[in-house]
Amino acid sequence: MRKNISNRIWDILTCPYCESSLLRIDNGAKCPDCREEYGYSKQGQLDLRLQRKKSYQLQFGLGTSFLPGEDADFGVLRKNASSPIDFANIKIPLHLTEELISYFPKTEQNGDIMLDLGCGKAIHREVCRHTGFEYLGFDYSLPDALILGDAHSLPFKDNSFGFVLSIAVLEHIQYPFVMMKEAYRGLKPGGKFIGTVAFLEPLHGVSFYHHTHLGTFNSLQFAGFKIEHIAPSAKWSGLTALASMKLFPRLPRFISELLIFPLYLLHRIWWKLGYLITHSNRASEKFRILNITGAFSFIAHKAADKAEGS
Ligand SMILES: [Zn+2]
Repeated sequence: MRKNISNRIWDILTCPYCESSLLRIDNGAKCPDCREEYGYSKQGQLDLRLQRKKSYQLQFGLGTSFLPGEDADFGVLRKNASSPIDFANIKIPLHLTEELISYFPKTEQNGDIMLDLGCGKAIHREVCRHTGFEYLGFDYSLPDALILGDAHSLPFKDNSFGFVLSIAVLEHIQYPFVMMKEAYRGLKPGGKFIGTVAFLEPLHGVSFYHHTHLGTFNSLQFAGFKIEHIAPSAKWSGLTALASMKLFPRLPRFISELLIFPLYLLHRIWWKLGYLITHSNRASEKFRILNITGAFSFIAHKAADKAEGS
């Protein structure tokens, strides 16, 4: 059974090689320029993955500082008091938090599409439904994606999405700078890019580059994003992640957390002592969380106009 792709989504599909708009054919899609044809996967997904080698050029501005300014915060995320969406009574899926979803945008425009870039099992679909965007689940191989493709070469027109979500994906990407550029290209001016990336989580699946807060900042800034927040998770620490993902795999999470709790408690006491003795910022609670977090979340956008972009 083929998954149903709406006309609005067909309208933004492009060839992942030459970026030409795709033509719909009986058993898939065809590029009018390079003549590449794309079929459906066994699960009925339109398969727009790269089928042969493609080269991609990036330009790096060496000798310039990419470090954040003094005003960059890197503290834990607080709930957005002016959230446009009421998420009351919604079950928040894995990796998302009440704080993070409070930054989700709401579309006023009928037919605006959002991209779940690396949607996995599409567990964010339900939360995203509240944003009013049409949900497009995209992944490299999983059966719950509507369209299969490569995050390094998104098969979508420029400025297609009002919102791009990318949860726990970046660490699995071979060339994260390329994915960031692609996410930026796919976003409409003013569109939001929200996501998370592993920091002290242990190796899981195919992980290439876990990101520090500075790494996250650099990847986003390199692509051109305006960064609003980069925040460590206080609850999902490196210790929690290690315990639940690798030290005691397959144990329910609350038991693995219980087992690691004595060590966590000692760590908290040790840092508290350090702060009481030194009063140094480097022994503060904020610095502790930044140093031991399992993952960072980020909120960024594409400048709405030239004035903001400059
Ligand atoms: Zn083509």
